[in-house]
Amino acid sequence: MEIITVNPRGFCKGVVKAIMIAKETAKQYPNQKITILGELVHNRYVVDALKDYRIESIESKDQTRFDLLDQVNEGIVIFSAHGISSNVVEKAKRKGLITVDASCEDVISTQNLIHTYLDQEYTILYIGQENHPEAEAICDINRERIHFIKDFDAINALDVNSDKIFVTNQTTMSILEIKDMLNSIKDKYPQAVISDEICNATRTRQEAILKLEDIDCLIVIGDPKSNNTKMLAKIGTNKGIENVYLVETVAGLLDKNLAQFNRVAITAGASTPSYLVNQVIAYCNAIKDNLDPIEAINSVKIFI
Ligand code: SF4
Repeated sequence: MEIITVNPRGFCKGVVKAIMIAKETAKQYPNQKITILGELVHNRYVVDALKDYRIESIESKDQTRFDLLDQVNEGIVIFSAHGISSNVVEKAKRKGLITVDASCEDVISTQNLIHTYLDQEYTILYIGQENHPEAEAICDINRERIHFIKDFDAINALDVNSDKIFVTNQTTMSILEIKDMLNSIKDKYPQAVISDEICNATRTRQEAILKLEDIDCLIVIGDPKSNNTKMLAKIGTNKGIENVYLVETVAGLLDKNLAQFNRVAITAGASTPSYLVNQVIAYCNAIKDNLDPIEAINSVKIFI
């Protein structure tokens, strides 16, 4: 069995920065309650590790960030890497909370672009994942003039009558799927101005999978809530890799017969801590070399 560790993989600059901001906030406000609205990044091992810094996250899949804020009545509120809308920021300020913004610069850049086109009277078509906080923050900018598109059915159902249409997307979509969706919109609205906003971290991680050759198993490590993680697995499947395993940790591989494969590739989503990836690499190497896999996993140092 040959093991290929895909590069780049794991933490992106936006996630590194968000974690750094959260830790710095804990240092700066040692006596204040600190709450993250939602999950700082989509990985529960990061969320759990932040509890050691007195930082709590509040999340509910049925509640928007605006509504979640009702649960925060004192101290500091940190906005996650996925971006935040001005409505939520203003509400936090009205409540007398100290706000800290850990939004990724790439997300802010897409928000700024949308503001620019809204100012010029464009109608916005935004492709994203339903109920994702990044999409929620974008749509919150202007719910009347931003049309949310989650799939091809939504494109078919569009009924926009305007010369000024601007089309863009969530930063963590699949590079293959977004191309087809943007083309489909361009066919329907040839006048549309299009800007593909998939971020560099998402793009390069997906391209690295597309470049792989003769792989019979791809292991993707990441949280099932992480869109970029899910897209890595999807790209692997679309590329025709027969066995794609999306696992949160090495525990998800224990019932798999990895020894049957010739070439196993390992990658990880942009919010997956390195130690979870290192555990998987150590486990696969132990299987390859006929060593004790559990001992190999336990030898990996845990850190965020
Ligand atoms: Fe930013 Fe992209 Fe990382 Fe999301 S995946 S935090 S948009 S760099």
